Formats: sequence, structure tokens, C-alpha cells
Amino acid sequence: MRQLTIVTGGSRGIGAAICARLAADGHDVVVGYASDATAAEAVATTVRETGRRSLAVRVDTSDEGDVDRLFDAAAELGTVTGLVNNAGVSGPNGPLAEADADGMRRALEVNVLGYLLCARRAVRDMTRSGGGAVVNVSSAAATLGSPGQYVHYAAAKAAVDTMTVGLSKEVAADGIRVNCVAPGVIWTDFHADPQRPGKMAATIPMGRAGQPEEIAGAVSWLLSGDASFATGTIMRVAGGM
Ligand code: NAP
Repeated sequence: MRQLTIVTGGSRGIGAAICARLAADGHDVVVGYASDATAAEAVATTVRETGRRSLAVRVDTSDEGDVDRLFDAAAELGTVTGLVNNAGVSGPNGPLAEADADGMRRALEVNVLGYLLCARRAVRDMTRSGGGAVVNVSSAAATLGSPGQYVHYAAAKAAVDTMTVGLSKEVAADGIRVNCVAPGVIWTDFHADPQRPGKMAATIPMGRAGQPEEIAGAVSWLLSGDASFATGTIMRVAGGM
């Protein structure tokens, strides 16, 4: 069967690297993005240059109607076989004592509710179509807790780990696999301090932050037939963190 995968947050960073890798591995790719249409279209063009089909779709993953529109648009390309839940935001940086409620609420909406809404629609569609695979992008923060940085974000990513375990069991008999990749510190524009990945290097056993491409291969493997017996797993790709 032709593989058609939706990648949320596909316009840049880890998501863009995942889109490129999936295209190279034979997937048609729907590139979800929040605001930067130009960047998303550029990623879709990169996918098309490999001979695969692609579409860029604007979506706020925390909005139920938007999520349905994303999946409806994807269905025009064919049967959706994969979802990569990747769109995430950190919210406020610093100690919890200084974090504002609106910023934390937004981070929980995007990182938790957004993943749940996308996964819900994916399993609804995949149950009807005979199966598929979901990969959630979590974070090593889920187990490290990110003290002084963003405890609320770490808690949200722990929720992603937990939804991976629960949903994987819930839909295993429907032929749907649900797995998770938990990256460590990666060089992207995600960080409030752009130099943070470099500054963190000394705390990472491998002595460096990772590149988005080093996450993309793990995601692609979990979506592939080689991972046909893997579900409910949380694959840490974090340089030893
Ligand atoms: P990034 O460079 O900041 O990119 C974030 C992506 O998410 C962009 O494509 C953005 O779209 C999209 N996005 C943001 N809010 C959205 C929303 N409400 N609805 C839909 N799309 C939205 O982030 P990244 O570093 O690639 O991170 C990707 C994932 O990996 C996140 O879940 C993050 O928590 C996780 N992670 C990152 C690191 C790291 O060190 N970078 C480490 C561990 C885990 P626009 O460009 O259109 O705004």
C-alpha cells in the first residue's frame, strides 16, 4: 500500500527533516504548519522533487475543526497511513514560579490536546481503512523534568509518553501501531535562547546537541514495516541524556 503520512509542524526544524526523510523513504507527505506558509511550501516542494506527492496545510493542532480540515485535505491525496504528531511549543522559559498561566495553557493545548486531537482523528480514519501507524514526538524532558527551564513543558511531554502507551494498547487490535520518539536537545529554532543547544553540550554524554536529521530516521523506522512488531515504545534519541 502507498504510504501517506501527515507531519504536524512540518515547516521547519525536526518536522521539516522528518518530511524530507519520509519522502526519501517513499512516503507521500502532508506538511502541517501553523503560520509560515512559505516555509511549508518549500518543504512540500522538496518532497515533490523526490517524486512523491505533497500538500502543505495550515492547521492549529489545538483546534478540533482545523484538525478535521487537515485530515480532510490529506484524504484528497489518498488513504492516510501515518501521522507524526510533532507540532510543539515550549511556552514560558524559566522557573515555574515566574511562568504565566496563559503561556502554560497554550503549551498544554498544543503539546497535549493537539496531539490527542490529531491522534483521535488518525485512529478513527485508520480503523476504517484497516490500520496505520502514529509516531508522537515527545522529549527527553519528559523524564528529566526541566527544572528552572520549563517544568510545565516537561509535564506535557510526559503526557505524550503516557498517551503513547495507552493508545497503543487501545488500538493494537485494529492494526494501528502507536510509538514515540523522545529527542534530546536538537539544533532548531525552538529554543528561546538560540545558542542553548551549544550551551547544553557539556551536560550531554555525547558532548553535543543533535541535528534534526538524527531524529527523522527514528521516526521513519517506527512508521516502516521493519517496526511491524513495535508498539507502545518510547525511543529516546538524546545523545545519552
Ligand atoms: P520548531 O523548530 O519550533 O518548529 C515547530 C513547528 O511546529 C513549526 O513547524 C510550527 O509551525 C509548528 N507549530 C507550532 N505551533 C503549532 C500549532 N499550534 N499548530 C500547528 N503547528 C504548530 O520546533 P522543533 O524543535 O522542530 O520541535 C519539534 C517537536 O520536537 C516539538 O514537539 C518539540 O517539543 C520536540 N522537541 C524538540 C527539541 C529541541 O531541542 N528542538 C527537543 C525535544 C523535543 P510554523 O513554523 O508555521 O509556526
